[in-house]
Amino acid sequence: MDCIFCKIVAGEVPVDILYQDEEVMAFYDIQPRAPKHLLIIPKAHIASVAVLGEGETQLMGRLISVAKQLAEREGIAHSGYRLTINSGADAGQVVPHLHLHLLGGRRLSDDLA
Ligand code: AMP
Ligand code: ZN
Repeated sequence: MDCIFCKIVAGEVPVDILYQDEEVMAFYDIQPRAPKHLLIIPKAHIASVAVLGEGETQLMGRLISVAKQLAEREGIAHSGYRLTINSGADAGQVVPHLHLHLLGGRRLSDDLA
């Protein structure tokens, strides 16, 4: 499958792996929009929240839990951070493999849009 994040999971595109377990992987965003900009992804290919099944609820909890731990490790747990999931065109989702953005290290815009 021609999915950049599946290629990262498969080790075909090298990244600094910040975290991984059987289900989850995390690495820095290649085009950071904040001093700290990490991506947390499921290893399984799920295109977006729009196609998420009931059975994946626990997996989404795992992604958030990993994000929380990485925020602590990156030293932004106290200053604060934002977790963002874009789904579909209007949200600006570019990579069709579900991912959580972890953004911090500066005062983020009040505007969610
Ligand atoms: P989204 O707009 O929510 O689909 O975000 C996709 C994100 O993936 C963007 O912030 C990109 O900068 C990031 N990205 C794309 N390719 C790579 C890559 N090879 N390594 C790390 N981040 C990537
Ligand atoms: Zn994929």
